[in-house]
Amino acid sequence: MKNKTLLQIAKDYGSPVYVYDAETITSQYKRLINAFSKVKQLRLNYAVKALSNISVLKLFNVLGAGLDTVSIQEVQLGLKAGFKPENIIYTPNGVSLEEIETAAKFGVQINIDNLSILEQFGTKYPNIPVCIRINPHVMAGGNTNISVGHIDSKFGISIHQIPLLLRIVKNTNMNINGIHMHTGSDILDIDVFLYASEILFETAKHFKNLDFIDFGSGFKVPYKTGDIETNIEELGEKLSKRFNEFCKDYGKELTLAFEPGKFLVSEAGVFLAKVNAVKQTTSTVFAQIDSGFNHLIRPMLYGSQHEIINISNPKGRERFYSIVGYICETDTFANNRRINEINEGDILSFKNAGAYCFSMASNYNSRYRPAEVLIYNGKARLIRKRETFDDILNNQIEIAL
Ligand SMILES: *Cc1c(COP(=O)(O)O)cnc(C)c1O
Repeated sequence: MKNKTLLQIAKDYGSPVYVYDAETITSQYKRLINAFSKVKQLRLNYAVKALSNISVLKLFNVLGAGLDTVSIQEVQLGLKAGFKPENIIYTPNGVSLEEIETAAKFGVQINIDNLSILEQFGTKYPNIPVCIRINPHVMAGGNTNISVGHIDSKFGISIHQIPLLLRIVKNTNMNINGIHMHTGSDILDIDVFLYASEILFETAKHFKNLDFIDFGSGFKVPYKTGDIETNIEELGEKLSKRFNEFCKDYGKELTLAFEPGKFLVSEAGVFLAKVNAVKQTTSTVFAQIDSGFNHLIRPMLYGSQHEIINISNPKGRERFYSIVGYICETDTFANNRRINEINEGDILSFKNAGAYCFSMASNYNSRYRPAEVLIYNGKARLIRKRETFDDILNNQIEIAL
């Protein structure tokens, strides 16, 4: 996305604003499809929680993707966006049996990660096919906040519990049609991922009626220079080969499924914010933008580094800045960052703002959540209005005092 286009969007729709590029989303989707072209049946279920705007979901529907959902509301959004229920997988964690029953009534693929719930669900609905989420106990990521396959994780059914799992399946006579894992958010090492996949294949052998094996996600995209990117092509080559071998042994052509979020949308998005004030203190120069962790919390929550560009002055001389927000809380986006000279009124562009950015936004400090714009077929389209004061008051009840 060109600076000129982005500046025009900030002018037309105000700031702060999220901007997504449909072309980048499409090319990432196709890249993944191509990497696994040797697999006969492939399904990519886009992880809705990364970016859940209905127009973005519609784009994925047009591309032919399915959806990975983690709440009943995400299921409903997916159905509203036009997805067929059979193309939606519902992978909740820690939700009530009632919510899982509601999802089953919608006809989506149920994925269960808890033996107690599995037993209750299987007893009540032995005919509804269920996928099982396994915890292979492999640390795929580098950061414990985002690694969900390790021993302390709340996600998945431990591979050490397979005997009890098999007993439940036998006793309830339920039908297990899929095996799933989602080990963590960052695949830094393809061999570690392939190792976890072997555990999944071993588990799969216990079930005779499988339709698919779901390898979750964890595809890493670079945020800052020097970051590793998951080598999708190498992973595709190696895993496809192994998967095809497995299907031969298993005696049936299974579907290989993935559910990427970040890989598909992270790089397609930027976050534009305006500099309200430049404030020099005894120790640093702050640039204060019209935002905070109410709009983009990843730097404060995970220590993520989003590259920041001054698109109003991209040729200005570089200086060091601390980029902070306007809310009453420490909300540092970047510390001591080298950026082209910043003046009040400049628009800063945060890269990699497509995944887990707007979807984590809140109204903290009673601020409005930003607008969202999708560039589709070369045209900027508003896909979410900026909130107004009515949205802040919506659902609040003013009692007589
Ligand atoms: C969040 C999530 C994903 C997507 O992870 P990314 O790192 O964004 O690709 C996939 N599957 C499940 C079950 C998830 O919870």
